[in-house]
Amino acid sequence: MASPTPKSGPAADPIDALLSAHGLRRTAAARLVLGWLLAHPDTSYTHAQLQAALASDGDPAHGVTLDRVTLYRLIDRLTQVGLLLCRVDVNRVRRYQAMPSSVHAIPHFECQTCHRDSPLLGALQASANDIDRAAQTALEALKALGYQGMSMDFAVRGVCADCATATSDAPGLPA
Ligand SMILES: [Zn+2]
Repeated sequence: MASPTPKSGPAADPIDALLSAHGLRRTAAARLVLGWLLAHPDTSYTHAQLQAALASDGDPAHGVTLDRVTLYRLIDRLTQVGLLLCRVDVNRVRRYQAMPSSVHAIPHFECQTCHRDSPLLGALQASANDIDRAAQTALEALKALGYQGMSMDFAVRGVCADCATATSDAPGLPA
C-alpha cells in the first residue's frame, strides 16, 4: 500500500495524513469518522448506523459530539474526495464504507429497475485484471500531471439479470 508521506514530522498519524493529502481539515470529527470507517473496512453504514456506532463508541476523552448535520456534511466531503465509497442499497438508502486503498476501480452494476447496486467482481473475473491495470495507468498518468487525491468509480448501469428475467416472464408488469 502506498500511503502518502506525512510532511508534518514523525508525529503525524495515518488518518491525519490521509485528510491532509485530500485537502481536508484535520478536525476531531473528521478523525473520528474516518478512523471508525477505516477500522471497520468490511462494513458499510447508513448515516443513522454510523451516528449510532460513533455515539456508543463515544470516548469522552475525545470530547467530540457529532450532530446529524455535521456528520452528513462530513460524510459528503469524505465521499467527494474519494476516501469513502457510497453505495445505494435495495431500499435506496445510501451506505458508506472506507475506500479500500488497494482497489483502484471496483466495478459495480447499478440496476435501473430494482435499484440494487452489486459488485461485478465475480461476473467480470476474466477482465478484472485488465480493468485494474487500465485504472492504475490512468491514475498514474494524472498523478504525473499534478492531479491529487484521486479515486475512480467504475459503474455499469442497466437492467440486472434478475429484473430482465422477471420482466420477460411477466410482460404485463411495468418495467
Ligand atoms: Zn434489478
